[in-house]
Amino acid sequence: MKKTLECPCGQTIHGTDEDDLVAKANEHLRVEHPGREYSREEILFMAF
Ligand SMILES: [Zn+2]
Repeated sequence: MKKTLECPCGQTIHGTDEDDLVAKANEHLRVEHPGREYSREEILFMAF
């Protein structure tokens, strides 16, 4: 299961599972990268 995402800005996001990772990635995008949105599929594609 993918639980880690490295944002292009250099921040690493960890989730307890895929749902948590997607939620945390969206929260990071909302706070740090307003206007940039990724779907669940795109987030999981970039995750490892
Ligand atoms: Zn970022």
